[in-house]
Amino acid sequence: MRPEELNPLFVNAEALKGVGAGLARPLAKLGLNRIRDFVYHLPDRFVSRRVLQALEESAVGEQVIVELTPVDYRGGGNPRAPFRVMAEDRAGNVCALVYFGRNAGWARKQLPLNEPRWIAGRLDQFGQSLQIVHPEHVGEDSTAAMGKTIEPIYPLSEGMTQGRLGALVQQALKAVPELPEWIEPSLKSKQGWPDWQPAVLAAHRGEDPKARDRLAYDELLANSLALMLVRASNRRSKGQPLQGDGRLRSKLALPFALTGAQRRSIAEIEGDLAQSAPMLRLLQGDVGSGKTIVALESMLIAVEAGAQAALLAPTEILARQHFETLRRMAAPTGVNIALLTGRDKGKAREGILMGLMDGSIDMVVGTHAIFQDAVAYKNLALAVIDEQHRFGVGQRLMLTQKGKATPHCLAMTATPIPRTLTLAQYGEMDVSRLDELPPGRQAIDTRVVAQERIGDVVAALSRHFETGQQAYWVCPMVRESETADLAAAEARHADLAAHFGNDVVLVHGQLKPEEKDAAMERFSRGEAKLLVATTVIEVGVDVPNATLMVIEQAERFGLAQLHQLRGRVGRGSEKSTCLLLRGEALSEVGRERLALMRETQDGFRLAEEDLRLRGGGELLGTRQSGDTPFRTASLEQIQRLLPMAHDDARLLMERDGGLVGERGEAARLLLYLFERDWGVQLLRGG
Ligand code: ADP
Ligand code: MG
Repeated sequence: MRPEELNPLFVNAEALKGVGAGLARPLAKLGLNRIRDFVYHLPDRFVSRRVLQALEESAVGEQVIVELTPVDYRGGGNPRAPFRVMAEDRAGNVCALVYFGRNAGWARKQLPLNEPRWIAGRLDQFGQSLQIVHPEHVGEDSTAAMGKTIEPIYPLSEGMTQGRLGALVQQALKAVPELPEWIEPSLKSKQGWPDWQPAVLAAHRGEDPKARDRLAYDELLANSLALMLVRASNRRSKGQPLQGDGRLRSKLALPFALTGAQRRSIAEIEGDLAQSAPMLRLLQGDVGSGKTIVALESMLIAVEAGAQAALLAPTEILARQHFETLRRMAAPTGVNIALLTGRDKGKAREGILMGLMDGSIDMVVGTHAIFQDAVAYKNLALAVIDEQHRFGVGQRLMLTQKGKATPHCLAMTATPIPRTLTLAQYGEMDVSRLDELPPGRQAIDTRVVAQERIGDVVAALSRHFETGQQAYWVCPMVRESETADLAAAEARHADLAAHFGNDVVLVHGQLKPEEKDAAMERFSRGEAKLLVATTVIEVGVDVPNATLMVIEQAERFGLAQLHQLRGRVGRGSEKSTCLLLRGEALSEVGRERLALMRETQDGFRLAEEDLRLRGGGELLGTRQSGDTPFRTASLEQIQRLLPMAHDDARLLMERDGGLVGERGEAARLLLYLFERDWGVQLLRGG
């Protein structure tokens, strides 16, 4: 049970004034569901504005607050042209307040003619005249605007404005209680860190590195503690020793010899499986390094030992593909493999559930549906999780509670995690690395091409199709501009379909699963020659005949993500090419990052360099959702603070064993606060 002190923080967002149905979606997109989430929704940066008496005091490009009087309206007849409110300061200098989109009516209401208003926004020069595009605040008296001289800028989603979100955060901050201290006192005083509550308030008020560090440290400490608790509980729990006799594995008729790295990893896994302590192992191998066969061999060991094995995939597409691959490879062994996803209903589903319960199904492949409550196994002894970074540790624990004994767990990932992050992400696991690619792989010819040359790219695509090979075309899709990105992907698909006919399919995250599968299937069967997609193809898709990939606006992707995407080509014997289309306004760092992609195909090197290139730059958080298991700590903070948090967590575990005493109790609070309470639950269970 969550400690009572934390209750005010876990109240639903709906309790905030002004949160109705309209805001539900944008808030959910930002992960803002409870008061706690607002408290930890930290500003990306702050703007500070200068109060001006007259416009000529300002440097162009500066954030200002100034009193202006609207004198005239221009434009607005055509919804595509901007609406301009011409306004004067006291000295008669003119500035245009510019509104794009359909904001004319709203602007007229806020800015009636001949009535002075206080305006906050960025003053820019446009030709000979001054302008403020979309003023951020408009007020009748100076107090409303003057209070905004320093303003936090929060990460936004579509349908949300800074003003609204800022007001909600302020409401949420009123509910923040004082909490007991969980940080080691000497460390805290050495670092000069504030208490938790003042740190939270300060982090929203202005740039305050100490407050930000303290909050990041909290998150890192919570994570380290939770991972250590998992590890400790795993050591205590009883698993099922599995001894395979090789009778099934010997029947596999593989068309290739295993690499040294594959053999070594299988041996490590075999060793773990023979123990009664449940395995907790991470198989880390670059795209195309051959993790699937390692998974299959491991699963066959479990079946040879008379038990069942399950493979969990992050998406339906991948589950289906794994199922086909495993069934094909394992056909000579005669094992019974089933596919179970959320879409299976009725009789088919009943049949699979029966088979899992009576043991007639040896292996199951599926999405998280395979670990739902209704699914019971006769004797599940091994769970393999593909693309582990997509699942939280919590989910992994849930599934390990499925068997009578705790199942062995093999997690697989192609994400080349920098060494500093491995500890944070996988601190509790043993690691096997597939650091050797199967022989005969050719380097992927990677080129950076300016977006203007898209015509040449389409021509190259035509020539490519003449050879009978297929291609991918990837469009970016990010949370902040999802609607626009989706529209752009659809428009691109329409363009390419107009050019190449209807052998062009489109796959994106908002399609129905059936539509997605149908498109994917046409592509994998070779009926469609071009797959236009947002990043849903990132993980695992395997079509060896697809040997060309075009990535649009490549600068908007993370390096690790580009690397994953590029790994979809270069899977067959033909030479593969990857074209990175870049936009015009490319920063120095952006240029360097794309150059790196051209230079190396080593995922680990790319991950380290990505971290280096992003790490130093910004003062405040460079949070990138999905890249790390953290929301509050930036990459730079992880590198600097994680070793400390790790040591502190170990001390806490060793000194007070099961988190007892005052600090131990406070540490439990911390685990709940960061929703690592599965750690606490393990503590109880043990
Ligand atoms: P990963 O899941 O690690 O990205 P896969 O398991 O999908 O990689 O393997 C990529 C491709 O390499 C598959 O077509 C697979 O059949 C092939 N492959 C795997 N191991 C070997 C090997 N030792 N020699 C040659 N080809 C291999
Ligand atoms: Mg794979």
